[in-house]
Amino acid sequence: MAKIFGLLTTAASIFIALLSISLFNFKVHSLTILFIIPAGSLALGGLAAFGYYHGVMKMGKKLVKTNYLFGVILALITMVGIEYGEYMITYVSADNVVNHRLQGEHISNYSLNDSNEPLTFYNYYSNKLDNSSVSISSRSNVNGGLTFESGRTMSTFNLVVQGLGFILGSLFGGSMLSDSKNHCQSCQRAYLKEHELFEIDEVDYDSIMVDLNQSIHDDNVYRFSDRIQQQKQIDNELCENIRYNFKIGQCPKCQEGYLIIRHNKIKDDGTYEEVLEQRKVTYLSRGIVADILKTIGNTEKGSSVHF
Ligand SMILES: [Zn+2]
Repeated sequence: MAKIFGLLTTAASIFIALLSISLFNFKVHSLTILFIIPAGSLALGGLAAFGYYHGVMKMGKKLVKTNYLFGVILALITMVGIEYGEYMITYVSADNVVNHRLQGEHISNYSLNDSNEPLTFYNYYSNKLDNSSVSISSRSNVNGGLTFESGRTMSTFNLVVQGLGFILGSLFGGSMLSDSKNHCQSCQRAYLKEHELFEIDEVDYDSIMVDLNQSIHDDNVYRFSDRIQQQKQIDNELCENIRYNFKIGQCPKCQEGYLIIRHNKIKDDGTYEEVLEQRKVTYLSRGIVADILKTIGNTEKGSSVHF
């Protein structure tokens, strides 16, 4: 199932790139920022592998090396698929204009100048890599010869940067997806379903942690719930550079629960980014989890209370 999702997003990624070439003559996969960051291929590689990773995670599995390897394969299929697709939609119109709108004759009806070899995908592509312009002549000699600036020449360097973009895009995409969630440490069979509690800044952090840790240690359901409720009711203005986001996470498979604390740091643009190494996931007793979920009105069906 995950592989089918993967093939769908791979097809979508190829389709978007070809649509852009056809409509705007713009190659998304060649787009770079500051000449070196392959933003376009990063995004298309990420999109290609997204469906597969999503499918694997939907089944409750943690992403492992073989999953990332398959994600990379999908990204490389996308890269080759786009090049092949571009060849397939390269036509020469009656007035000798090379276009990607299926107008006129397909480029395979032409041959490289001074040869009678058809312009196959291989010939077309290797020529495009070597030259900035391609001279072709009609194999049936109807249109005569013409030269067109490919304008899309990819030197080997660009090709390598682009390939790296596709590969890294698929890898980053997978780690971003899995980093945003928490895999159940108890059964290892699902991702935790998370319920928002509150957000606090550094001023309140130490005092609430002392209280919560003590309640967890004593397995004091009431004290834990009271402290959470108390904090939820405080409508404090957060102004610090660091914010702590508190959530309760419960496993849909084994019903075990955890307190999840994300450490978010402000960036230059004013938005917050999580410091992954600082995330705290603390096991809670079933009693505490059930009580908290009940008080926030999200009691999971099938969860049981043990006092
Ligand atoms: Zn579990």
